[in-house]
This record gives sequence, structure tokens and C-alpha cells, in this order.
Amino acid sequence: MSKYQLRKIFIEKDVVDLSVTRQILNKLPDIEVEYMDDYRSIKVDGDSVDDIFKKSKECLAIAGKKGGLVKEFRCRDGIVGNTEYFISHGNNCSFDCEYCFLQCYFDNSVPTLFVNHDEILDEIRDVLLAEADKRIVFHAGELCDAMAFDDLTGLSCKLIPLFSEYPNARLELRTKTTTIENLLNIESADNIVVSWTFSPQVIIDNHEHKAPSLEERLCAAVDVQKAGYNVGICLDPIILCDNWLDHYKAMLEILFERLDMESVKFISLGGFRYLPSLTRVIRERNPQTDILLGEFVPCVDGKYRYFRPTRTEAYKEIGKVIREQTKDVKISLCMETPEVWNSVKDVLK
Ligand code: SF4
Repeated sequence: MSKYQLRKIFIEKDVVDLSVTRQILNKLPDIEVEYMDDYRSIKVDGDSVDDIFKKSKECLAIAGKKGGLVKEFRCRDGIVGNTEYFISHGNNCSFDCEYCFLQCYFDNSVPTLFVNHDEILDEIRDVLLAEADKRIVFHAGELCDAMAFDDLTGLSCKLIPLFSEYPNARLELRTKTTTIENLLNIESADNIVVSWTFSPQVIIDNHEHKAPSLEERLCAAVDVQKAGYNVGICLDPIILCDNWLDHYKAMLEILFERLDMESVKFISLGGFRYLPSLTRVIRERNPQTDILLGEFVPCVDGKYRYFRPTRTEAYKEIGKVIREQTKDVKISLCMETPEVWNSVKDVLK
């Protein structure tokens, strides 16, 4: 919650008496509260699109998610990836990354916490039992940063003990945050990976507004690793700014120096990509941004990515930097085509 200036809390009437709601309100006294029937009807007014987004992110919604608490995710044909499960514990987050696809995904941008934890855990357990013989992967962090509100909700304190009973499954908590106190106070399990999205500081300064600095993220990752957790490194999105390779190289050298690479489970690489609908929001909110400059091409899943030779080169160069430091860590590409995988596989293996 650092850097998060909270102005107003919306609460669905149905969840007022849930223990997680009371716990959150106890931690956030003296904030204006508005009660409502359905979080999807929240409207935040503002003078411009940017103003509405900024004001929305100064609010918080506490709601109950009805249905779809665990979603099976398969990559579109033509994109390489395994079937995974997403845990719907919230929508949006308090940070304001220029490239965030959530800006055109939901009806509003108010960070929303789903507090019907018992139902969420029941649905996760149902999937774990049904798929007990498979090595399935769950993600918390697709539609809301996995840890951004963990100091309020304490969800990690419920997820980690649950997954520790199902060692065949893996839980990945993907984050950019420093709100790791709960993780430090509960016992880790081998099938839990806390992964940080790392970006060179110049990219954080230019495009990841309100998000923790590289140093803050790295300190949090080091502390979590020292507490016994597996850690993952996500370079996603990779943004090809001026001198991008120097910036990524310098960042990776710092990560390798400070993290214990033995317990880094993976490094995933994903080039910046976007659906055409996002460009209008990005341009309207950030008229000066250079994030959309460059040669982008439409791909099989409808998203625009850097021109194939450009992103292949980026993966190869970053892959070489990683392999100069360690031969052991698994490197994978995030949401990429088979052609790109084939072009880079010799460098990443
Ligand atoms: S941290 Fe993730 S969810 Fe939050 S604004 Fe940035 S990209 Fe979006």
C-alpha cells in the first residue's frame, strides 16, 4: 500500500459482514465509505480519461466475486504455452503502468478486492482434487497484482498452506510490490514461487508509474528468498528503449549479484505487446510517451508485437547475458509464437 493515497472505499452490501471486509476496514479507518449492490456499477467522474483513471486508483472496492473464481487459461492457437489456472482474487491494482492491459479490460479501474475467500479457496481445492494426478500451475496476479493488497487481505496466508497440501500443483504469486510481510511470517513450501517483474529503472521511471523502484523490488525478493521461498524473475514486458541492451544487462548483473540463483526457479522473457484497443488509452493518457514508437506488427492472437526479427534479437541478446552468468536457470518466453521460440531455443537452452 505504499505510495497509495486512498480517498474512498466502495463496499458491496452483501460482503459487509465478512471477516476479510472487517479486517480491511480495521486497517483503513477514517476513509469515506459508500455502500452499493454491485461493484461493476461503480462510476468515477473526472475531467479527462486520465483524470478518471487517476481518481479511480485512489479508491478501493470490496466485493464478492460470483462465479469464475478460478479460470482455466489456454493460449490461443499459434501462441506457445501450457494450460494454467488463474485465481480471481481481485481486479486492477494501485499502480499505474502505461502498458497495463487492464486499462481497457474492465468497466472501471478501481482496484477491487474479492473478499469471499472461503468460496475462492473451495473452488481452488476442487480443481486441485480434480487434477491431482497432473502437475498444474495456478497464478494469482493476472488481473490484479498478486501481492499488492496482501497486507490488507492476508490472502497469501490462506493460499500457501492450501497449496502445501498439494505438492503436485504449483502456485505462482506474480508481483511488483514490497508488501511481503505475510510471506515472511508463514512457512514457505517448495511448490510456491514468488515472482517479481523486474524492469530497468529507466523503464520504471518512464512507464511504471507509482510502482516500486527496481531496488525496492529487489530488496523484497532477496528477503523473500532468505525466508526460504523460491523466486521467479519476469522480464515482461521487455521494452526496447534507447540503449535497451545496456539497461537490461546492467539490471541482470545486479539481480545475479544479489539473488541466490540456486533458488531462482525460472526467468521468463516477454516482449511488450498490446491489443489495438489499448493504444487509444495509452495515447490519451500519456501524449508524450514513446512506448508505442517502433515497428509493431499484428500477430496471430490479435496482439501487436515488435517486428519478429527485432524481438528475436532482444530475446537472444538478453538470453546470452543470462547464460554468461548461469547455465542452470530455466529460461522461457511468455506468449510467443513457435517461430520465435525456434529462432531462440539454442541460446536459451
Ligand atoms: S502492476 Fe500489473 S496490474 Fe498493476 S498497473 Fe502495472 S501492469 Fe497493471
